Amino acid sequence: MSELTERTKKYLEEYDGPEIRIMEVCGTHTHEIFRQGIRRILSPKISLISGPGCPVCVTPVKYIDEAVYLALESGCTVTTFGDLVRVPGSSMSLAGARARGARVKVVYSPQDSEKYASEHPDEQVVFLSVGFETTTPSDVLAVKNAIRDGISNFSILTSNKTMPGAYEAMRRSTDAFLYPGHVHAIIGTGICSELAAAGTSGVIAGFTGDELLSALAVTVRKFSEGKPFWVNAYPRVVTDEGSPAARALVDRYMQPCDADWRGIGVIEQSGVELRDEYSDYDSRRKYNIPEFKTEYKTACRCGEVLQGKITPEDCPLFGKACNPEHPVGACMVSGEGACSAFYLYGGKL
Ligand code: SF4
Repeated sequence: MSELTERTKKYLEEYDGPEIRIMEVCGTHTHEIFRQGIRRILSPKISLISGPGCPVCVTPVKYIDEAVYLALESGCTVTTFGDLVRVPGSSMSLAGARARGARVKVVYSPQDSEKYASEHPDEQVVFLSVGFETTTPSDVLAVKNAIRDGISNFSILTSNKTMPGAYEAMRRSTDAFLYPGHVHAIIGTGICSELAAAGTSGVIAGFTGDELLSALAVTVRKFSEGKPFWVNAYPRVVTDEGSPAARALVDRYMQPCDADWRGIGVIEQSGVELRDEYSDYDSRRKYNIPEFKTEYKTACRCGEVLQGKITPEDCPLFGKACNPEHPVGACMVSGEGACSAFYLYGGKL
């Protein structure tokens, strides 16, 4: 361990300034902080709370119902990343639909899905397009390539979200955000500066143990100065302008829309959907999916976990009725979910 890392750890261990709540917005940060044992060394004056930055966790129940409808009623082949298969819908998950004979395939990228569509022209192939600014460009690229290659049996079911709306919705739940570095590699730093001007602080963080320790120490140090702040603590990847090329690609094919966040509700203009001219590639419009007004009636408290109002251990189902083998809510299914992190790495450790 380097001398700098030792000094940073010591600072975080011995911190005795004003109490601070830091929201690690991103599920990857939550898991990495646990995995590196960072929670264990923090002063009692520093609390970490988990936020809404796990794409699977914030995917609403009605989206799963739409995917199940496409698989069972429309006879489509639904292709998706593995985590989504086990997320409960209002009546069943995609795994349940598969058990009833639906075609549900796990793929590793939207490009795999588009390739599958080109190789199976007799099937209508849907890709579940779920994610944040980091993955949306890749989803759009698959649509672009399908148009270029004349593949008409491929479409995407969008539930793509954008982070600035979530920051706005969550800003009163925390003293400072630990901003996800990979998102800001795309969107740049403008939003951090705007939020700081409006009184909300945050630090852009990378993903290694040293980067996380250093971002946390910077957060605590700046917070004790008593003024709103923002800092880019991941400059080797994040620039002020982000990636204009990735944003231009998304803007060409998608437009902003209101988005429903599981357990949180609709946040205005916090999502993107395909523009009207690409409606043939939009599964929702292509297959006239009916409006699902579903409520998920369980004791699952994912919504409060995702807003940092409770920790997973405050949920009465945690580790009992709900565990990774038998997840009740999305936060326990996803590899980036806060509940699965607390379960895997031992709660408040
Ligand atoms: S422990 Fe399970 S039931 Fe409770 S909030 Fe987390 S995912 Fe939902």
